[in-house]
This record gives sequence, structure tokens and C-alpha cells, in this order.
Amino acid sequence: MYNDFMNRIIFLDRDGTIIKEKGYISKPEDVELLPKAISGIKLLKAKKFKLIVLTNQSGVGRGYFSLKDLKRVNERFFKLLKQKGTSVDKLYFCPHKPENNCGCRKPETGMLEQARLDFDINLETSYMIGDKIEDIGLGKRANLKTILVLTGYGKGTRKEVTPDFVAKNLLEAAKWICLKV
Ligand SMILES: [Mg+2]
Ligand SMILES: [Zn+2]
Repeated sequence: MYNDFMNRIIFLDRDGTIIKEKGYISKPEDVELLPKAISGIKLLKAKKFKLIVLTNQSGVGRGYFSLKDLKRVNERFFKLLKQKGTSVDKLYFCPHKPENNCGCRKPETGMLEQARLDFDINLETSYMIGDKIEDIGLGKRANLKTILVLTGYGKGTRKEVTPDFVAKNLLEAAKWICLKV
């Protein structure tokens, strides 16, 4: 049996959801946390959710930057979170370009399947939060509750998807989730 409380996961997109959307982020200095996202992460952690980031990074597959660049960007991401007194539990990335038809590029569920091997996850009580069609698409395929944030590309995405909730930002998304806990 699942321990319902311990296995609730918040899956989060990175760019446009936690950090500022800047196209293909290849340099550590371009990582900029969204202030409301930090508050949202802190609120969710206070409610004992685990936070797992799932990010499409096709800039690698397209040859715009290297895996090493991506590693540095992600290290910067974790460092900035730490500086703000918080963290996420794990980050998975897909480095492939769409033409590769890999199983891990959102909305495909490969990264989530990997997370299920690494964590005990109750999908029915977990959430996917992101700013793009692919994020909501993955959430729906995996039977997660879905939240579109209007940061990043979210405003443009709004008319394309039917998430369970539309939030101005990650903090508003977190507050909505906490109403249900
Ligand atoms: Mg995004
Ligand atoms: Zn992939």
C-alpha cells in the first residue's frame, strides 16, 4: 500500500516555471529564479511534498550547447535554490531533439518512468506543473493532476490546454494544491 502522505510528488518544469524563460539556457549566469516560484517551492516543501523537476533540454541534441554546459546550468540552478534556503529533490532532463523521437522528451513519459524507479510515487495524488503544452500533456498521459502556470510561455499556452487549474505563478499553484491537502 502507498503511504499517501509520503508519496505525493510535485513534478515541475524548470524553464518558465521555476526560472525565467530565456530560450535555450546554456550559461550558468543566465539562470534566474522566479521569486514567486521560490515561495511556491517552500510552501510545498513545508507540506512535505517531494519536488521533482522534469526538463526538456533539446539545446543539447540540436548542438546549441553541450551536456557539460547543461550540467553547469543545472548546478547553478541547485546552488541558487540553496542560497534561497530551499531545494528540489531531483532533476531529470531529456537532451534529445524532437526528431529523435525519444521516449523521454515531454509529453512522453520516460523521465517520469525513471522517477518511478527512483522514488515510490502515488501518481493519483501527484501533480505536474508547467508552462507548455508538453507539460500538461505529460501530466494527462500519466494521470497526474495538471496545473498550467502563466509564467514563461504559459499565457500563450492557455488556450491550447485544459489543465485542472490555471495559476498566475508557482506560488498560486502551490496554494491551490495546499487547499486540497
Ligand atoms: Mg517551460
Ligand atoms: Zn529524450
